[in-house]
Amino acid sequence: MRRLAALLLLGLAAPAAAQDQDYSKVEIKVEQLAPGVAVLFGAGGNIGLSYGADGNVVIDDQFAPLAPRILAAIKTLDPDPVKFLINTHWHGDHTGGNVAMGEAGAVIVAQDNVRKRLSVDSFSQRMKSTTKSTPKAGLPVITFAQGVTFHLNGDDLQVVHVANAHTDGDSLIYWRNANVIHMGDTFFNKVTWPFIDRESGGSIDGVIAAAKEGLALVKPGGKVIPGHGPVATREELQAYHDMLAAIRAKVAAGVRAGQTRAQVVASKPTAPYKDKVEEGFIKADDFVGGVYDDVKAKAKR
Ligand SMILES: [Zn+2]
Repeated sequence: MRRLAALLLLGLAAPAAAQDQDYSKVEIKVEQLAPGVAVLFGAGGNIGLSYGADGNVVIDDQFAPLAPRILAAIKTLDPDPVKFLINTHWHGDHTGGNVAMGEAGAVIVAQDNVRKRLSVDSFSQRMKSTTKSTPKAGLPVITFAQGVTFHLNGDDLQVVHVANAHTDGDSLIYWRNANVIHMGDTFFNKVTWPFIDRESGGSIDGVIAAAKEGLALVKPGGKVIPGHGPVATREELQAYHDMLAAIRAKVAAGVRAGQTRAQVVASKPTAPYKDKVEEGFIKADDFVGGVYDDVKAKAKR
């Protein structure tokens, strides 16, 4: 239980187990990244914040029970209400506070598929559980196909959809002037092997392309907010991209050579990186197995 609590504090709660967790001990920590730009850590996905004269823009909102604490933490930086809430994707550890924020007046913005997935009950084979549809107050009211830009607080926040990556509705959010990017769950920094939600339209090629897109946006010296884990440098995002590309190439070579899933997993293509990534919510073998299934499914088409 103590280990579970520690994992929760690292923001590593399994999305489906969310409802059963005890949030009473979770503290929301604030890290300033640039003037008017901050990241908030608690339990669940990392929260981005743009604040200043034009109002608060929040990126993701963790779990419902944490909403009052998240709003209180935002108030320590800027007392104004939340004007816009952007969801990087639909998962419950990033959208759990949507209803509370929507009811408090935030305009919720996300890619089209985020609203679609939040609007219905969805069963996950992997988690063996159903996520209930989100009440109307928590649904995005402005959706987009490819992207949208917010011009406020002395910056331009560029929201860019990346197709079929962690899910089918992921967005990256880039502050052009501050040179900060929020990668959502297309980037897990150190705390777990990547979770690619194939049931929600995710794919290894999309995650690699998302990292590439992030690298095209963020300039040298910039800061990278991952969906989970500590804030990273651009170099660390580059290393993440290179790691994923190398692992995918090894798995694809195994598929071409006619190896079974078990053989490819046993060949440990993650071994060169094992000191850099924790066996967190997703284990190395789960990750490799998923990449195998994905590459194999594509090879058949
Ligand atoms: Zn996620």
